[in-house]
Amino acid sequence: MALDDIRNRITQAERAAGRPQGSVRLIAVSKVQPLDRVEAVLDAGHRIFGENKVQEAAGKWPAFRERFDGVELHLIGPLQTNKTRQAMELADAIHSVDRPKLANTLARIAQERGACPDLFIQVNTGEEEQKAGVMPAEADGFIADCRGLDLPVRGLMCIPPADEEPSLHFALLAKIAARNGLDGLSMGMSADFESAIALGATHVRVGSAIFGDRVPPAA
Ligand SMILES: *Cc1c(COP(=O)(O)O)cnc(C)c1O
Repeated sequence: MALDDIRNRITQAERAAGRPQGSVRLIAVSKVQPLDRVEAVLDAGHRIFGENKVQEAAGKWPAFRERFDGVELHLIGPLQTNKTRQAMELADAIHSVDRPKLANTLARIAQERGACPDLFIQVNTGEEEQKAGVMPAEADGFIADCRGLDLPVRGLMCIPPADEEPSLHFALLAKIAARNGLDGLSMGMSADFESAIALGATHVRVGSAIFGDRVPPAA
């Protein structure tokens, strides 16, 4: 299946970059995919998945978790503050921490629950108006603030502008992570995960190349 092909390409990209085998985690992005396609990937033994909406994740993953052990769920889409608690209950990692209000809410609920998913701070490397993420110039300060709140910041995430060379953005994200002592780099999607791995990605988020084109929701 396509999953095997993607795994092979990840292994080759790790080798080409002189990185240890297994240093890149593959997040299979299952948003909007028919459940039978997701189930096929679970049956093939894959356990790390990504969703970009809390509501959709809540409708799908509790049932899959009952049937499949060891599922690791990553929320990769913009997170509304009023969905923070639900997101923290559902997910093992949240890749879209992008503003003080969300950081404060995560910190408050983490205190209360005594647990917090792994967090990635989203950086708007292309400084696009419509896109989530802190601006590159504000990243160092925001990372420090999140650490000051005792949040488990594991790394940074970006989504490069559709019409630009992604490797410039991957390199920028890697630079910001390095100067802040962060190891995690969530970058690279179906079209560009190999160049992300060359530039240090630790988590690639691959959807359509595994599952096929996303089927639009029924009208
Ligand atoms: C949908 C999505 C992906 C996966 O995109 P593909 O091009 O299908 O691989 C990755 N990251 C985020 C944040 C997404 O929303």
